[in-house]
Amino acid sequence: MKLLIATKNTNKVREIRDKLGHLPGLEILSLEDTGRVPDVVEDGDTFAENAAKKALIVAAATGTVALADDSGLVVDALEGGPGIYSARYGGTGLTDAERSLLLLERMKTVPDGARTARFVCAIAIADPEKLLHIAEGVCEGSIIREMRGSEGFGYDPVFLVEGMEKTMAELSMEEKNTLSHRARALEAAALYIRKIPYSSV
Ligand code: IMP
Repeated sequence: MKLLIATKNTNKVREIRDKLGHLPGLEILSLEDTGRVPDVVEDGDTFAENAAKKALIVAAATGTVALADDSGLVVDALEGGPGIYSARYGGTGLTDAERSLLLLERMKTVPDGARTARFVCAIAIADPEKLLHIAEGVCEGSIIREMRGSEGFGYDPVFLVEGMEKTMAELSMEEKNTLSHRARALEAAALYIRKIPYSSV
């Protein structure tokens, strides 16, 4: 079965390949293997709605089963922000590092005990006609006061993983892929993918 990863984020493609690559009979394709796909406007109210929309549009455009993720950082002291707006926090022109610095600045006065946060990921799988499955994963942690580590992407350098002395950016990809929100959502999605009858796709 062919499964198209519907994201332009090469870090996510790497993490998804690392997590699903071992599944028997599964050929993972990325958007580099397909023609142009339509840009998807992420206008849902939840991670799950945005992931479902992306998977459905890309599956319909390519005629392939597609897997899309929508993810972000949910910070309690920011009333759940940046949440579904994580990729656009502070405007579209910022780099990942500038976005992390902006988050630290806006949380400057938040005391240590109130800096709890979580990464959330929704994974949607769709065929060209319909949504097949949605899985979610969460990774709990807190926002530290300065950036630490150089692995990963996005808000990884400011996110201290619960129960560890390390930020997400201080973990190797292998370590991140045992505990991240995306890893957990992909593990749930893998249970579903294993059950898709080969004849149906
Ligand atoms: P999406 O591409 O719309 O899902 O945007 C997700 C945004 O959330 C990314 O641009 C990052 O800013 C953030 N994000 C999602 N997953 C991660 C992660 O694993 N580490 C760090 N930041 C993440």
